Amino acid sequence: MLTRGDGALQGVRRGHELRVLESLVKNGSRTRRELEADTKLSRTTLSVIVGNLRQYGILTEADQSSYGPGRNGRPVKVLRLNPVAGVAVGVELARSRISVSVVGFDGSPVAREHIELSAPMDLAAKVEHAAGMLRTLVGAGEVRPESLVGMGVGIASRHADPRSLADAGGDLQHDPQGVSLAPLRDAVATPLLWDNNIRLAAMAAATENGNPNGDLLYVVLSAGISCAVVVDGALLRGGNGIAGELGHISVDFSGPRCWCGHRGCLERFLNVANVLAEAEKRGQAFESIESMAAAAEAGNRTARAVVDWAAELLSRALTSACVLVDPNRVVVAGELAQFGEPLLEPVRKSLAEQQLEIGPRATIITRAPFSPTSGSDGAAIMALRHWAFAGI
Ligand SMILES: [Zn+2]
Repeated sequence: MLTRGDGALQGVRRGHELRVLESLVKNGSRTRRELEADTKLSRTTLSVIVGNLRQYGILTEADQSSYGPGRNGRPVKVLRLNPVAGVAVGVELARSRISVSVVGFDGSPVAREHIELSAPMDLAAKVEHAAGMLRTLVGAGEVRPESLVGMGVGIASRHADPRSLADAGGDLQHDPQGVSLAPLRDAVATPLLWDNNIRLAAMAAATENGNPNGDLLYVVLSAGISCAVVVDGALLRGGNGIAGELGHISVDFSGPRCWCGHRGCLERFLNVANVLAEAEKRGQAFESIESMAAAAEAGNRTARAVVDWAAELLSRALTSACVLVDPNRVVVAGELAQFGEPLLEPVRKSLAEQQLEIGPRATIITRAPFSPTSGSDGAAIMALRHWAFAGI
């Protein structure tokens, strides 16, 4: 679809295409006349651009009876985006999962695939595997390389340098240290951006109707703690690219030493292994967080006590974070989110107890429904925003 290449003429045409697409994303459907007004393109230029986009299957044109007859008495035709055309692809290389998503211009999913890894796999092998998944999707006709604006890649435990993202108009961003993303570029010839996978899952959680909006704190409580902050619809990366390390806020200054060098970091307490160990220390072993959550719900005293303990620690860290960031929403994800309301309610209570005179606080605290493709969905949305809307 969107014409790529170095030529100035192609650049101009791409710009025209994007103006047409942006209008359709914003308005849903448009007549040619309306598009002329929206894009300020001449009728002739618009006709060429619309013709190209229709040829690639990105736009559809149909009678819209509700518009009534046109000036010449015939029904007016309206243009719409074809949601199954697929315009951005996302890949997540998580700790123990690889997923691929293709999303349409309105952010709706076109195709999704994921695999769970039963054994550890190094990053280079994950890249190769994801490239194979992309080739399979292309082979099955679910991804049309010519219909892509770009690819986003979310990588566990890696954070992109914010300067490299600001410069990345095309393929300028450096690959993560020690690993090449070339197999992904070879599988689908489209520009590529990468960043931390949890940051990209946060982008997906912040997205409504294809566009991220609002201020969101996204926390994953799993083998470790990951956190990402979305401010006014954009990721907060920080001056050094390491913003959002909620796991290293201390909740007990005399607590055990964390690998980061400080004491009592939240992650030192709220990781899956330590939460299971805490229950064992209190006299009852559980096989998994899932079984502990079920026991807590059924009234098991040890499980309930551990959930209360976890909720108190989480409250301390999240209340501090909310004082600083003032998000509209806090979304808690990961295995420990299975503790549900008994984990979240104390956080709400702690926030409600604090009255800041500057203004009322309305922060919604929820759990994220588990989705194995949230990271790749968010990666695709990042690509969409970067190349289609220049918004990231
Ligand atoms: Zn720490």
